[in-house]
Amino acid sequence: MIWVIHKPGVTAMNRIIVWFRQDLRLSDNPALFEAARTGAEIIPLYILDDLTPGIWKPGGASKRWLYFSLQSLSEDLSSLGLSLILRKGDPLDILKEVVKETKSSGIYWNRRYEPFHIEKDVAVNREFSKIGIECKNFKASLLLEPHEVSPKSGGYFKVFTPFWNSCLKSIETEKDLPVPSLIPYKKTIASEDLSDWKLFPRPDWGAEFDKNWTPGEKHAKKRLQTFSEKCIEEYPYHRDFPYESGTSLLSPHLHFGEISPRQIWNAVQKILASHPGPEKKQACEKYLSEIGWREFAHHLLYRIPGLPTKPFKQNFEAFPWSDNKDFLVLWQKGKTGYPIVDAGMRQLWRIGWMHNRVRMIVASFLTKHLLIHWIEGEKWFYDTLVDADLANNAAGWQWVAGCGADAAPYFRIFNPILQSAKFDPEGKYIKKWVPELANLPTKYIHNPAEAPEEELRKAGVVLGVTYPFPLVDLAEGRKKALELYSALN
Ligand SMILES: Cc1cc2nc3c(=O)[nH]c(=O)nc-3n(C[C@H](O)[C@H](O)[C@H](O)COP(=O)(O)OP(=O)(O)OC[C@H]3O[C@@H](n4cnc5c(N)ncnc54)[C@H](O)[C@@H]3O)c2cc1C
Repeated sequence: MIWVIHKPGVTAMNRIIVWFRQDLRLSDNPALFEAARTGAEIIPLYILDDLTPGIWKPGGASKRWLYFSLQSLSEDLSSLGLSLILRKGDPLDILKEVVKETKSSGIYWNRRYEPFHIEKDVAVNREFSKIGIECKNFKASLLLEPHEVSPKSGGYFKVFTPFWNSCLKSIETEKDLPVPSLIPYKKTIASEDLSDWKLFPRPDWGAEFDKNWTPGEKHAKKRLQTFSEKCIEEYPYHRDFPYESGTSLLSPHLHFGEISPRQIWNAVQKILASHPGPEKKQACEKYLSEIGWREFAHHLLYRIPGLPTKPFKQNFEAFPWSDNKDFLVLWQKGKTGYPIVDAGMRQLWRIGWMHNRVRMIVASFLTKHLLIHWIEGEKWFYDTLVDADLANNAAGWQWVAGCGADAAPYFRIFNPILQSAKFDPEGKYIKKWVPELANLPTKYIHNPAEAPEEELRKAGVVLGVTYPFPLVDLAEGRKKALELYSALN
């Protein structure tokens, strides 16, 4: 349904640029909604900012997602009679051009929380406010922004549970905003061609991507609906088993803002309002608490802009990380000789996503058995994940490495063989992503190096030829990590 709302008493503005960024949706989009409410003509604009600093430029997986997400947004806008304007370059320069070309009197956008984006937004605000262009920005991608939640003692939350409890007390349930009625800008202005942006650095990847993902607002809503109707009840039981489709798979949609956390929150509140039994109620709460981890990661990134590169626990600055490049490459390629690690890393490369349990296992293996710096893993994830997100990724890596806020203690070292036996008991996940082990009996699938020669032969596995020997001895790796860790304190 499309609503027409004009707020009484609001003077109609001429033209407003709605600057889309990580909010590639029409519904529950406060910047778009508020711009429409003024009665102004709307100029929807997306700027490809290739000037994002160094290591945090979007990776290949993100770029491919962005391409289809923009295509979908453009189609949705076009069905309402609006053209999405695409421009590439420094946002400040582009906005100056578009304001001049369209004689716009305002720029509206939704806020982001990455330090380099905040810096740019501040600059845009400052420059345009000086010349009388109205800059308005809105909360759209968090339930509560970092400044809306803080401990009584001041500062910011460093532990998740009190953070989330405090959020639960403060979140005010407001309805999702509908798609507003939009008045298009009548003249045609130049837009670049999406296909000229070269967002497909890995052309060989298309079939796998298409099989697994459909970017765009419509599909994000469909996924949320299917998950909340059919899967949420089983979420606490299935969410740790990587072969099950037990999680919502909403992370890339959330990252690109094709769906808002408020839309998710409200969908779950609807279930809770139907007075479900205690198990379903608990499942809903568990799911919302995962959305809470996303909020927590953004809370931390906002308060600690150095989070992606500096350990939260400062004593980790002195940790003597290994710079074994060969091990790093074997980890990236999924050739460590530990099947659950290899399955995860190959899933990541093939479909741009990895199950959360396996993200923890591979991250623990890299940092605690191979002793390679968590930043190396963080960079690889950032480059290859469709849901690559500065806040969630940095918080996730620091959590696993043991140096983050509310992190897993360093001495909690995942044993990949035990984790594999517990969370992939029949080896289905391994067999899917590491097909050269598909014929091994389940008993040996978690650790082929222990299989008798005869079993390996029957399964067509030749260690060191068709599948690697284990890269490191787990017990030795663990011992060394613990020694180095104790030396830090
Ligand atoms: C080392 C490491 C790196 C990670 N990097 C990223 C990343 O770059 N981008 C990203 O979105 N998530 C990241 N995560 C968190 C998590 O693995 C993914 O959000 C989750 O696997 C996405 O799948 P889903 O949407 O099916 O999750 P669901 O289980 O359905 O959860 C719903 C939503 O909650 C949020 N969420 C769930 N778990 C977490 C978490 N631990 N931290 C923050 N938010 C969470 C996500 O937005 C997710 O879409 C990382 C975790 C680890 C351990």
